Amino acid sequence: MTSASQRPRVRFAPSPTGFLHVGGARTALFNWLYARKLGGDFLLRIEDTDRQRSTDESTRAIFQGLEWLGLNWDEEVVHQGANLAQHQRDAQRLLDVGAAYRDFTPLAEIERLRNDAESRGLAFRFDRRMALISASEEAGKLVHGEPYAIRFKVPEGSTEWNDLVHERIVFPNADIEDFVVLRSDGTPVYNMAVVSDDIAMRITTVMRGDDHISNTPKQILLYRALGAEVPQFAHVPMIHGPDGKKLSKRHGATAVGDYQYQGLLPGAMLNFLALLGWSPGDDTEVMTMDELIAKFDVHGLQKKAGIFDTKKLEWMNGQHLAKISLDELEPFVTPAFERAGLATAAELHARHDWYFGLLELLRVRARTTDEIATLAAHFFRDSVEYDPEAMGKQWRDVAATADILQATRDRLASLPEWDAHTMEDALRKLAEEREISGGKIFQPLRVALTGLTVSPGIFDVLLYVGRERSLGRLDAAVAYLSQDAGT
Ligand code: GLU
Repeated sequence: MTSASQRPRVRFAPSPTGFLHVGGARTALFNWLYARKLGGDFLLRIEDTDRQRSTDESTRAIFQGLEWLGLNWDEEVVHQGANLAQHQRDAQRLLDVGAAYRDFTPLAEIERLRNDAESRGLAFRFDRRMALISASEEAGKLVHGEPYAIRFKVPEGSTEWNDLVHERIVFPNADIEDFVVLRSDGTPVYNMAVVSDDIAMRITTVMRGDDHISNTPKQILLYRALGAEVPQFAHVPMIHGPDGKKLSKRHGATAVGDYQYQGLLPGAMLNFLALLGWSPGDDTEVMTMDELIAKFDVHGLQKKAGIFDTKKLEWMNGQHLAKISLDELEPFVTPAFERAGLATAAELHARHDWYFGLLELLRVRARTTDEIATLAAHFFRDSVEYDPEAMGKQWRDVAATADILQATRDRLASLPEWDAHTMEDALRKLAEEREISGGKIFQPLRVALTGLTVSPGIFDVLLYVGRERSLGRLDAAVAYLSQDAGT
């Protein structure tokens, strides 16, 4: 087992056979938090030994997804496919120390036996005696260049480890067949390549999905046979959809990249992912990256599956939109404003204080950056579109509404200062004079300024829409209502 004084080294080892899955990102995050918390190293290994299914595009998507999330890795990326010679050397070493043997059984023969067993409803198990040949026979086959696989000689007994999540796990070795480590074409099997690389990368803790638990006893046997220190293992739970089934596209987007383009903040995504299978041990849910690092502890990893609930993700994003600093938020929102055609980045930066004030106003009401842009639209547009429902509710009495909006307009136009307090005092006074409630002024005014029944506080709206435009919108509303009254 790993000694306490060792500097922790963990790795994320994705197979580049598709986009970066949220489950992969979650595994990467746990490893990253572990390394950052303990001052260790977080390494990245691209497991591209499956040449048929691995693509460069997928490798790029993994880099890009990790970069977006800010899960930076230490040292050079390791490409597993480049380590073939090392995998072969380690397999040879197993032969040299007598922990493995050559198996010259033709593949076709093994296939035949497997099919045969299966047709009788039995599981096929390779029988070591099948490969047993005399030393001279073996030498003869080697001289003739006959192909062979290298098989690991599973010892008797049992293989056990203290999993950081599942505690003690015991596998009887009798359940493990003598598995191939190097195929007859010279390529390593998954377990051989992983162990060889993890030894070479001096990994101290292997943290990965619990779908790998059944590989772990084989890997431990390989470490021991190679005379290497066995790392610690932490098998983290799977991610399920709200229906309790394995997460799939039916439950929503499963690619990290899709969430990036839905206006999610990486900090919110990380916070949400961290809580899928891990708990800080108290009720805290909304955490920044620094808070996650401070709170992360492997003991908080859970055995039961994490539930991927997109509603919760949206909620989490809303929490982060409201929590982070405006300087942090701005780079995510400005592109959304540009996409919505509201203003260019240069225009927004030129009105920095106004823009940041507006963000402050809207961010607490939105769940995504795109939603902030939607809520911001009427602060930018020249004219307002009146929502029929809002008109039906707040402008029902057309003549009276035109009258109160005109009075509101005149009162506002007469003010020496365009500030919230002065405006509020003036309009409350108007309400008193008319013996009506404030709401009877503010609600129709809100529709005139925004076209909607919901918005930030009415005085903030007046402030951010600005004097000229607010008065213009009131004129337009009065004209619209008067025309309506006349027809
Ligand atoms: N490449 C494996 C996977 O994507 C990970 C192997 C490991 O972490 O040991 O599932």
